[in-house]
Amino acid sequence: LLVGADGANSRVREHAGIELTRSSYHQLALVCAVATEKSHQQTAWQCFMPTGPLAFLPLFNGQSSIVWSLDEDQAGEMLALDDAMFMRALAEASEYQLGDITAVSERKTFPLAHGHVNNYVKPGLALIGDAAHTIHPLAGQGANLGIADAISLADVLLTARQAGRQWYALHTLLKYQRQRKAENRLMETSMSGFKVLFGQTNPLLTEMRNAGLSLVDQLPAIKNLLSRHALGGGH
Ligand SMILES: Cc1cc2nc3c(=O)[nH]c(=O)nc-3n(C[C@H](O)[C@H](O)[C@H](O)COP(=O)(O)OP(=O)(O)OC[C@H]3O[C@@H](n4cnc5c(N)ncnc54)[C@H](O)[C@@H]3O)c2cc1C
Repeated sequence: LLVGADGANSRVREHAGIELTRSSYHQLALVCAVATEKSHQQTAWQCFMPTGPLAFLPLFNGQSSIVWSLDEDQAGEMLALDDAMFMRALAEASEYQLGDITAVSERKTFPLAHGHVNNYVKPGLALIGDAAHTIHPLAGQGANLGIADAISLADVLLTARQAGRQWYALHTLLKYQRQRKAENRLMETSMSGFKVLFGQTNPLLTEMRNAGLSLVDQLPAIKNLLSRHALGGGH
């Protein structure tokens, strides 16, 4: 059995002739590591702006890794700035949540797209993780989905083997596909929905969105349920 776990540009998927439906957000994620005036306090911080989210993810060395989703032309402008101007623009965009930006590493960009294959499996082959599906990184769920795929595939194979069935047979692999495809599709659609929702500038829609988020924040049971789901608690 060959498991294709080789990421969004999977050669295994390509060689197997498995088609991927891919849709670009026409945005780039600008990533780099930054040092900040204030401590990140081991906390991930994210700001949702009409263009897309800006995330500061805490690193062990006290720095933060940033992921800034920007329209393609804006990303080009940010890349063209010198370090000092970029640090100022970033601090302003983050509303100085962590104070000034005091150092920055090399900046890189990645195209943002979502995509999904129709078939996760073929005889003798299974795709997992980004090889099978990619989503917008706004909620940091991509890695979780891939890990959940790996757990599900291992579980299906082990169960079949323990029962003395052909663990590598297509009907066994299809069980893995049934377990994961709907959930991954739901997450892909939800992330695209969030992207549209947070991109709204219509005052009525932003008011409704904010009221909904405040309500969830005040309902610990719902909040815990959503957190558990995001952490892959169903597995
Ligand atoms: C800008 C950005 C920010 C993100 N932020 C988050 C986040 O905060 N949280 C989160 O959960 N997810 C995030 N994601 C998504 C996350 O990175 C992916 O969902 C996750 O890495 C997918 O894991 P994977 O193992 O399927 O693929 P990858 O992580 O892409 O791993 C594939 C591996 O296969 C190797 N490989 C590929 N081809 C070959 C070959 N021919 N031979 C040998 N090796 C090969 C690659 O080198 C790589 O090591 C982000 C994505 C982007 C683009």
